[in-house]
Amino acid sequence: MEMKRILVAGGAGFLGSHLCERLLGKGHEVRCLDNMRTGSLENIKELMRNPKFTLVEHDVTDPYDWECDEIYNLACPASPVHYQKDPIYTMKTSFLGAYWLLELARKYGARILQCSTSEVYGNPDVHPQKESYFGNVNPHGIRSCYDEGKRAAESLFFDYHRKYQIPIKVVRIFNTYGTKMAMNDGRVVSKFIIQALRGEDITVYGDGSQTRSFCYVDDLIDAMVRMMHSEDSVVGPVNIGRPEEVTMQELADRVLSLTGSSSQVVYHELPSDDPVKRCPDISLARELLQWEPNTTLEQGLLETVSYFRSQLEGESPC
Ligand code: UDP
Repeated sequence: MEMKRILVAGGAGFLGSHLCERLLGKGHEVRCLDNMRTGSLENIKELMRNPKFTLVEHDVTDPYDWECDEIYNLACPASPVHYQKDPIYTMKTSFLGAYWLLELARKYGARILQCSTSEVYGNPDVHPQKESYFGNVNPHGIRSCYDEGKRAAESLFFDYHRKYQIPIKVVRIFNTYGTKMAMNDGRVVSKFIIQALRGEDITVYGDGSQTRSFCYVDDLIDAMVRMMHSEDSVVGPVNIGRPEEVTMQELADRVLSLTGSSSQVVYHELPSDDPVKRCPDISLARELLQWEPNTTLEQGLLETVSYFRSQLEGESPC
């Protein structure tokens, strides 16, 4: 296979570091751009030994120049806890990051893939969500910095495509979990597992009846790479996720049983604009990418539990 020069913006984060590893495994030269706000050196320390891997500490809100064949844009805090901490920065990263990377793609004729999100559907009143659904997003709520930032980035991608014929690829990523999630990530799977392993209370928000659909990271990365290599006519948006819906109460119960923890479940107030349900329709991904998520929730949770167990070693896990 032809060796490519590939830029991964946000390459030291949870998904980015898995993607860099996959691309290096295929023999490509990979340059990781990251400002290390939510990314970590720990995620990429093995990759640093590979001479085809370079880390550049850079903020995508500023322009960057490197002649490359492909660009993956994952640069943005993605956990509600992190993206709401500095919402103005989140919006800037989403929009300006997309803008500067599109300019780079235009300069070198590179293919560019945008990691968009199921958050573009907001609190959906169409279920499951198809790509043709325009969404139900609060434009000024606490989640809008991320939701609207990602929607603006999608809009920019399609305008660059229409105006300059840039070869774009847009994927909408649904909830993803797995190894290399940060301990302080705050997203529900990692948070429940860490709480269970430490014997702390499991904090379910609301009454736990809200649903999400969880995809294991390896399956997600597979879909992203397939999308990048799809026909030029496939620009997206394409939903990527695993269409098995679970309530947060069910998730808490499964984590408790898989970890054998005796933690108690406690109920906290539901944050505002928290979507009530979310499940992808992945017919398009199946048809265009011949992709299917293969990892069951049970298998993925077991992998993730064992990862966090080893991260917590020395903290006297239960
Ligand atoms: N959630 C929860 N307890 C927590 C953290 C999250 O019940 O300690 C719920 C949250 O209210 C949401 C779901 O889990 O309904 C998924 O939250 P997450 O932050 O992982 O991502 P989201 O899909 O909301 O972006």
